[in-house]
Amino acid sequence: MENSTSMADQNTKTADADAAPKKKRRPQRPQAYYDEIKERFAAERDIRLDYRPPGTDQYMEATGDYAHYEIDPYADETIERDPITDTVEVLLIGGGFSALLTSARLREVGVESIRIVERGADVGGTWYWNRYPGVACDVVAYDYLPLLDEMGYVPSRHYARGPEILDHCRAIAERYDLYDLAVFQTTVTSTTWSADEELWHVATDRGDLMKAQFVICANGTLAKPKLARIEGMADFAGHSFHTSRWDYDYTGSDLSNLADKRVAIIGTGASAVQIIPELGRVAKELYVFQRTPSSIDIRDDWETDQEWAKSLEPGWQAKRREKALKMMGRGGFVYGGSKYDDLSREEKIRRQENANIDAMMRIHRRIDEVVDDPETADSLKPWYMLMCKRPCFHNEYLPTFNLPNVHLVDTKGRGVTLIDEKGPTFDGRVYEVDLLIYATGFEVQQTGIYNRIVGEHGLDLNEKYAEGIQTLFGIHSHGFPNLFIMGGYQAPFQFNLTDMLQTQGDHIAACIAYVRDNGFHTIDPTAAAEQWWVQQVIEHRGKTNRNKDCTPGYYNFEGQFNRRQDGNYNAGILTYVEHMSEIRENKMEDTFVFTTR
Ligand code: NDP
Repeated sequence: MENSTSMADQNTKTADADAAPKKKRRPQRPQAYYDEIKERFAAERDIRLDYRPPGTDQYMEATGDYAHYEIDPYADETIERDPITDTVEVLLIGGGFSALLTSARLREVGVESIRIVERGADVGGTWYWNRYPGVACDVVAYDYLPLLDEMGYVPSRHYARGPEILDHCRAIAERYDLYDLAVFQTTVTSTTWSADEELWHVATDRGDLMKAQFVICANGTLAKPKLARIEGMADFAGHSFHTSRWDYDYTGSDLSNLADKRVAIIGTGASAVQIIPELGRVAKELYVFQRTPSSIDIRDDWETDQEWAKSLEPGWQAKRREKALKMMGRGGFVYGGSKYDDLSREEKIRRQENANIDAMMRIHRRIDEVVDDPETADSLKPWYMLMCKRPCFHNEYLPTFNLPNVHLVDTKGRGVTLIDEKGPTFDGRVYEVDLLIYATGFEVQQTGIYNRIVGEHGLDLNEKYAEGIQTLFGIHSHGFPNLFIMGGYQAPFQFNLTDMLQTQGDHIAACIAYVRDNGFHTIDPTAAAEQWWVQQVIEHRGKTNRNKDCTPGYYNFEGQFNRRQDGNYNAGILTYVEHMSEIRENKMEDTFVFTTR
């Protein structure tokens, strides 16, 4: 987790000591206290499950009448160009962190012909699209920004802001000459294996028919905006957009155009938490439509100490990362170690849950301390275990609700279900607004968004997955030679996503190097290796009821039943890395089928 990692260096020590209270012994409370809170958690979860349309069906893609919610507002113009029909060695679908850090490793192993194909007008991925006011990353920048050693760069703050991260992405693309072959404003629509040529044929919405020996699906974990299905959305007569397509022409670059505007925002996830304080400062009126509150903790941000930055030895980030990976360990129980060996599984879970509840009640107490109006404070309290939803860190979010122009509309788990031409309606009241912002999130960890992937014998990847996702390490899928997937399911979930992506990027570059160095042309996992991994995923996902017990959200597939294999690998990133290393060092020929040309 980010906080344990942030303790790991000198720069954080003084400030962390100031920010974090000294570790107190947890108060001894009767079990009945915890059981009562757990009952409330369950009741709040059930309210939400009962109200909302089932599972992920409550959301929809921005297509048809809603296609304008995906238009890129950041590109100056659409570049005209002729269709491309050439062949490259490696083609990456997507130009975000996955593509950039993997390309850097590919350059290191000698790959010259690398093409990024990207829907946006530049590299950056998430950081290209998310330019909303207040955008920043909650993971410590010294861990989150990739390739800091290679780039000789130290981020300017403990938590980097969006523009700095986007600039870093551009710098990586420059440094590794990735702009040379890159193609922007281009969406890959199909990726089809040609058995005759032993190449991938990559078609796009710009009429391209590119070919590539290797394809890396680097399309991101949260890349495609989604919209809640709300009756009457299309009737709204005011202005509206999704958080990932911020319309600065409308709001003004400093949001000053909103001074005479009534604004509504739907959703209170991590994006909204960063945006709401910015809107609250300027909007004439701001209505925040909340279905489930986020947990809001303190954000201990500061400018990087330049003396500390100068003192860093070459390779500092790699060392930090290695340390962090070891600390994150193998997942599983907090109560690990020989001291707890004698505890039963039930007792370990009980203690872990009680500690989690204590953490959540601390978050509740802070809300009472900061928010003046007791009713609003109560509404802002999250009733679920920490990590059921993505925890948020912000110092201005809660105080924003003390401003006279900011109004929390607590839908008490129901959500907005109706919008008319004037604005959202709730409990019989129409909230008349000029601007409506959808902070309703993204499709999660979907491989091949916008893109149909067809492997050997015409097999569609989605058809193959219809009976459950089948991969080796979440990266390779049998029958899809020379195809690599990044950021999809069956790989560990990491709060610092970059750790996971770097692990995958290193592995993919090593596999491609192996193919090149041994004179092979293709690499494909055996069906047996793939089945071994699927069983690993199933085994480790079966250990807790967390998915079922948690309030719905994208971490638990909105409370929908899902097959055990259709999620992340839960045995921890260290075990994941060890499995990969073992195969790369000793078992390549047992695990993969290689062909030559
Ligand atoms: P989320 O999916 O986290 O949030 C969507 C929000 O929309 C939820 O609050 C959801 O409520 C709400 N919602 C959906 N339908 C309705 C409805 N009908 N009425 C009212 N509310 C509704 O999306 P985000 O864009 O906020 O965040 C996505 C992810 O991006 C984060 O989890 C994080 O991983 C990443 N991120 C990280 C940031 C950081 O580093 N600080 C900043 C921004 C994003 P409910 O909870 O009830 O489902």
